[in-house]
Amino acid sequence: MTTEKNSPTSLTEEEYLDHTEAYDGICLSCHSWTAGGVEPDAEEYTCDDCGADAVCGAEQAMLLGELEIVGDDNE
Ligand SMILES: [Zn+2]
Repeated sequence: MTTEKNSPTSLTEEEYLDHTEAYDGICLSCHSWTAGGVEPDAEEYTCDDCGADAVCGAEQAMLLGELEIVGDDNE
């Protein structure tokens, strides 16, 4: 099991916008997306998956460098 931390989660810009609009949050501990209820600038919400107080809103995660926009294959 690796303890390496903070490799950014890759997603397309469209996915990022979807998560932002849906008020999804991402857990910085287990990198699961939560389904709604997290404001884009939220921090330290509790993760339903792993129980860590490490869920950030999508915009906040981007500011923290936890998300990385990658190119979309559909040109
Ligand atoms: Zn988690």
